[in-house]
Amino acid sequence: MTFQRILTSGPIEKNIHQLWQRYRSQPIRRPRHLWRLFRLHREFDLSPTDPSSWQWNFPRGQIPQCSVCTDNCCKGPHNTVLLRLVDVARFVDRGWTDRITLQKPTFPSEVLAQKPMLQATLRSFHWQIFPILKQDPHTHACAFLDSASRCSIHPDRPWICRVFPYHLDFDQQAVSWSERCRWPQQADTNAPQTKELEHAVFHSFFTEKIRDLILVTVYREEIAASALAPFLDLSALSNL
Ligand code: SF4
Ligand code: SF4
Repeated sequence: MTFQRILTSGPIEKNIHQLWQRYRSQPIRRPRHLWRLFRLHREFDLSPTDPSSWQWNFPRGQIPQCSVCTDNCCKGPHNTVLLRLVDVARFVDRGWTDRITLQKPTFPSEVLAQKPMLQATLRSFHWQIFPILKQDPHTHACAFLDSASRCSIHPDRPWICRVFPYHLDFDQQAVSWSERCRWPQQADTNAPQTKELEHAVFHSFFTEKIRDLILVTVYREEIAASALAPFLDLSALSNL
């Protein structure tokens, strides 16, 4: 989490970070926590990733050219923005819950056949539990896209938007470039935007995934009793 992000966190987001600190600093004390962790480890690889071992499916330093892009990746019926736990917490803190939903769209098989990233999202643990951003039903624009086609919550945008168009392919251990973004430019590998994207995709994004799995599984009673509960589908945890 960046310093800026800590500064702008609201109380519910801070609670999530405190719960994570508790998990990291204290040994698991309750047998039920231990049992849940054991089962989680059987289902998922929760080990931290080593970026040097991942393959890159595009040139290092490639970044999107958003300033000249005539497309907009914040629009489109298949551009689903799935939230992380800290995103939900931030949205609850900000009072933006009217623009998130647990009602997930379905996609025709011919669309899925062309979109391996979307297929992976639909298979994920997050898809079962976490909400997505609503879209305008007519234009399929994200609920936060303003009339000038800019993100109206840019400093608070969800993690998936922060790392786009980078994407971790867990099966292949590869960093991929979303086929949705057709405006790449080559930057220096040490350029701030390159560094920011790589940091986000490897550390923040992956850590958030591990953190979400552990927090909602191990501390499900605390999460269920929090203001986050109406925006999560915790019934998917019944098998863990
Ligand atoms: S499609 Fe690519 S270049 Fe265009 S706005 Fe999205 S990320 Fe930026
Ligand atoms: S939250 Fe912002 S960046 Fe993310 S899809 Fe919506 S408008 Fe785009």
